[in-house]
Amino acid sequence: MLAAVFEAEGRLSMEERPLPVLASADDILIAVEACGICGTDLQILATPPGHPATPGTVLGHELVGRVAEAGPAAGIAIGTRVVIDADPKCGVCGPCRTGRPASCLNVRALGIFRDGALASHVLAPAGAAYPISDAVPAPVAALVEPLACVVNGTRRAAPRAGESVLIYGGGAIGCLFLAVFRATGCSPIVVVEPLAARADVARAMGADAVVAPEEVVDTLPRWLPGGADIVVDAVGSQLASAIEAAAMGARIVLFGMNSNARPPIHQVEITEKSLAILGSYISNFTFPEAIRLLESGRLLVDPMISAVMPLAESRDAFELLRSGGATKVVITP
Ligand SMILES: [Zn+2]
Ligand SMILES: [Zn+2]
Repeated sequence: MLAAVFEAEGRLSMEERPLPVLASADDILIAVEACGICGTDLQILATPPGHPATPGTVLGHELVGRVAEAGPAAGIAIGTRVVIDADPKCGVCGPCRTGRPASCLNVRALGIFRDGALASHVLAPAGAAYPISDAVPAPVAALVEPLACVVNGTRRAAPRAGESVLIYGGGAIGCLFLAVFRATGCSPIVVVEPLAARADVARAMGADAVVAPEEVVDTLPRWLPGGADIVVDAVGSQLASAIEAAAMGARIVLFGMNSNARPPIHQVEITEKSLAILGSYISNFTFPEAIRLLESGRLLVDPMISAVMPLAESRDAFELLRSGGATKVVITP
C-alpha cells in the first residue's frame, strides 16, 4: 500500500509499505476512508521539529474507516464503520486507574509513535475504536478525533448560554471550539486570526467577529466591553493576552501547544479578576460526545473542510496547510 511516512527531520516520503498484519488478539485492521492532516503533523515535519515522533512512522491520526479484519478478542464485527482514539490508553497504569486516561503512561500515539492512517490500512487496538453512523460524510467523520479533544476543552470551561467567548487562533481547532460554543448558545464569539483565508472560514463558521492581532486593542472593547467570560488559547503562546482580555471570573482554556513559549504573565490580574486557568490535553472520555455532535448534524463544520485530496497528493496537502491557505485538509486513500 502507498503510505505518507515521516522519514527524517523535515522529510515526508511517499512509500510502498506491506499491509499491516494483526499483531495481538484484540487488534483490528481498518480500511481507511479518510484521514485529516493536523497541526501536529506539520509540527512533526518542521525543522527543527515542534513535536516528537518516531522516524519511519506512517503519519495520520484523525481517521474514519471500516473494520477489515479483527483478532479473536477484538469483539467488533467486520465491516463496522469506526473512528479511532489515536491515543490508545492502557487501562492499567496509575493515571488510567485514577480516571486520568489522557495522562496514561503507556500511550503510543497512532501516526506519531506507531503507524497511522495516511495509507489505505491501519492497525489499532479494538478498545480505541468507536462506531460511527454511515450517514456522517467521511471528511466530517475524520473530524471526530480533534473534536473529541475540543469537547474536553469546552467541558473544562463549562460554558453557559449567553456567555461571551474569545478564541485565539482561527485554524481547525479554533473553528471546532467556535462550533461547540455556538451550539451551546454562547454569544458573542470573537476569533483572533491573522490569516485572511482562515478569518473568512471562521466567519462562515459563525464567528460574530474575526479580528487580526494588531486590531485587538482597538476592536475588542466594542465586542467584549467587560472582557470575555471564556478565553481559549488555540495557539499555545497567548496566555498573557488571554489574561488581559478576560472578564472578571473568566475561565481561560489553554489548548494549543508550543513548547518554546514562555509568555510574561501579569500575575496580579489573575488574582484580582479571580480567573481560572485550565489546561486541556487531548481527549478524555469525550469520543462518544464528539460522535453524537457530528451524527446529530447540529454542528456546522462544512466550511472548515478546505480540501479533500487523494493520498498520492499528500505533499501538496501539507504545503497547502503550511501556506495558511487552508483550515483543514482531509486525505482519502
Ligand atoms: Zn491531531
Ligand atoms: Zn494507562
